[in-house]
Amino acid sequence: MLIMKFGGTSVGKPERMKKIAELVLSTPGKKIVVLSALSGTTNALVSIGEHLLAGQKAKAEEVIVDLEKHYEAFIKELYGSEAFLAIGQEIVSRYFIFIRLLAAGQFDNKSYRELLAQGELISTELFYQHVQERKISARLLPALYFMSIDENEEPELEKISERLKPLLSSLNNIEVIITQGYICRNHRNEIDNLKRGGSDYTASLIGSAIRAEEIQIWTDIDGMHNNDPRIVKKTIPISELTFDEASELAYFGAKILHPSTIVPAQKYNVPVRLKNTMDEKAFGTIITSKGTEGSFKAIAAKDGITAINIKSSRMLMAYGFLRRVFEVFENHKTSIDMVTTSEVAVSLTIDNNTHLASIENELKKFGNIEVDKDQAIICIVGNKITEQKGMLNKIFDALAEIPLRMICSGGSPNNVTVLVHKQYKNKALNLLNEGLFGLK
Ligand code: ASP
Ligand code: MG
Repeated sequence: MLIMKFGGTSVGKPERMKKIAELVLSTPGKKIVVLSALSGTTNALVSIGEHLLAGQKAKAEEVIVDLEKHYEAFIKELYGSEAFLAIGQEIVSRYFIFIRLLAAGQFDNKSYRELLAQGELISTELFYQHVQERKISARLLPALYFMSIDENEEPELEKISERLKPLLSSLNNIEVIITQGYICRNHRNEIDNLKRGGSDYTASLIGSAIRAEEIQIWTDIDGMHNNDPRIVKKTIPISELTFDEASELAYFGAKILHPSTIVPAQKYNVPVRLKNTMDEKAFGTIITSKGTEGSFKAIAAKDGITAINIKSSRMLMAYGFLRRVFEVFENHKTSIDMVTTSEVAVSLTIDNNTHLASIENELKKFGNIEVDKDQAIICIVGNKITEQKGMLNKIFDALAEIPLRMICSGGSPNNVTVLVHKQYKNKALNLLNEGLFGLK
């Protein structure tokens, strides 16, 4: 079984949706097709939900009207026959009746999450009818029948796998199974989601749950690149990555993948392939457990980082100090990315300032606290790079002109991370592109 996941831009125009039907058809074997919402839909649903939570029903209705028009135009181009156009119209009007029903009621966070799920529900239904029109043997398998998260919002892989077994064996003769990305049920059995960009995660959870042959993530670029093409002029696609390299890159800024995607795939050793719907011949990127060692693969950056420095003479030769510091972050459900220590101080970074004020307050009991906002993490990735001689030199030579606020190396052999003020981010990415890859 193959998992083929298509993102918002791959289904965002009627001709693109037709194109992916062809791609699915021309791929041999059985597959589970995971779809995102049409591009722009989840953003529109977010804005409808925000307006409703703020009690602004009229503003919400304006966005609903625009979105509905978008879908009405979409189906006119998607379906070829009057009969299927009528089915499409029925689907669109049914969803918009439901969206307005949600909007008219007492709108709370639960209704909001239900609203967010409508994007993937409608895109998969429209696609399913499109393949029906083309007489492809396919079925729609609702993600809400098997995809779930626990009270800590962690996917329940074992349960997902148990639920999928009978569902899939009942569809034994079907070539194409279509399901929704992103949406799931939470521990209260309510409709929830895997956070923005979560359709990739759905694909890898399904692929891992059923030990698929391969998880394919189809987007609109040809795989991972060695650097951020919005910031540096020249980038090169990377054909092979290890799971470790790919998770570092996804986590530290490569926008192409939801950061958790690699975790289940790595656990069950299912290869993840990144492919381009605009250029299906392009090789893309294959992510597996094997890799070539010792060369730089890519650089990624993550903005919006806050560095916190705790200076305390009580740390001197004390034990348990770091545990108490980390506990403060744990109590505030705030995860730490980078950590550096000296004998009397520790610096660490977070990417979520929601609880910063209370974290700062609690840390004060340990010593002097300094907070630097607007930092950027630059992450340099390559299989076992820190085990090779001279690799760190190359990095620091390239960055000679940039003040580095923190440096992390040795946590994993596959990456070196530095923290810079955001004003140096673009320059650092360009200097590394030239210094490590010879690209100008
Ligand atoms: N539709 C959701 C989003 O825009 C999930 C996804 O596309 O992966 O975030
Ligand atoms: Mg995405």
